[in-house]
Amino acid sequence: AKSAGAGERRFFDEAMNAQASARLAREAELRRAIAGGELRLYLQPKIDSTSGEMRSAEALVRWQHPERGLLLPGEFIPLAEETGQITELTAWVLDEVCALATRCKRAGLREQPIAVNVAASCFMADGLVERLDQLVRSHHMSPQALVLEVTESMLMKDLDRAVERLQELHAHGFKLSLDDFGTGYSSLAYLKRFPIDELKIDRSFVIDVDHGEKESALVEAIVTLAHRLNMQVVAEGVETPSQAAALQRLGCHLHQGYLYARPMPAQAYEALLATRPVL
Ligand code: C2E
Ligand code: CA
Ligand code: CA
Ligand code: CA
Repeated sequence: AKSAGAGERRFFDEAMNAQASARLAREAELRRAIAGGELRLYLQPKIDSTSGEMRSAEALVRWQHPERGLLLPGEFIPLAEETGQITELTAWVLDEVCALATRCKRAGLREQPIAVNVAASCFMADGLVERLDQLVRSHHMSPQALVLEVTESMLMKDLDRAVERLQELHAHGFKLSLDDFGTGYSSLAYLKRFPIDELKIDRSFVIDVDHGEKESALVEAIVTLAHRLNMQVVAEGVETPSQAAALQRLGCHLHQGYLYARPMPAQAYEALLATRPVL
């Protein structure tokens, strides 16, 4: 029994070691990806469904992995958050977005805001506003060209500090978007304290908006409330014409989803902008 225990113990240690080293390897791999040019900037348009015009876009990162192909954020953002590499990843996305905006401007294309997803740790990091200020200044961009997408659950962790941070960003001219709305602790009472410009209705409400009584009632209430609070409303994950029509009936005209466009590489986004020059 003694030796079996020792054997089990050794087996356990080895399994732990294998797990730890696999994680270290994944961490090193992600570091290489961020520093070594394996990340790719994708963008998905936010469309004014009444005119079909693109109004803005959301930056969505991908990882062009040398062996595993194009990876979606779900496969590496959680690791980046755990290891703190999300800071470098977000800095990379912000740089790319500013470089893209600069290229579009130089090419005489219409300027439109681009939204960046901001993880909780980045949102609360010291010096965020100073770094963003510095970034837009160095690119000769208006802060209004940058939209920061934050989630409700992120804000609810430390509400007072979050409100302070939102006010600071707002005062510096950055645009704010409340992502995945309706999925966190619902915070209708707090909504009036957030100086946000845009509210994004989570896809889970959009899925049944065209045949669920309750879903359409909820969406209608959210849209009315947001508009009364002077916020724009974007429906996320619009996939069918019937969902789009239902959303329009309920007063929600800004749509993002596969019905209009999938997330696309930056080049394709630039080409799309170029087909609709400003008049
Ligand atoms: P999210 O911010 O809620 O982004 C929307 C997700 O919905 C994207 O998934 C998008 O591709 C997907 N989507 C858009 N339209 C449709 C549709 O019509 N149907 C369906 N089924 N899905 C649609 P993606 O690109 O896989 O990103 C997943 C999540 O990863 C994002 O959710 C966001 O939380 C996170 N993420 C992506 N890029 C970044 C980033 O640069 N930084 C950080 N911190 N997080 C990111
Ligand atoms: Ca988002
Ligand atoms: Ca979302
Ligand atoms: Ca989401």
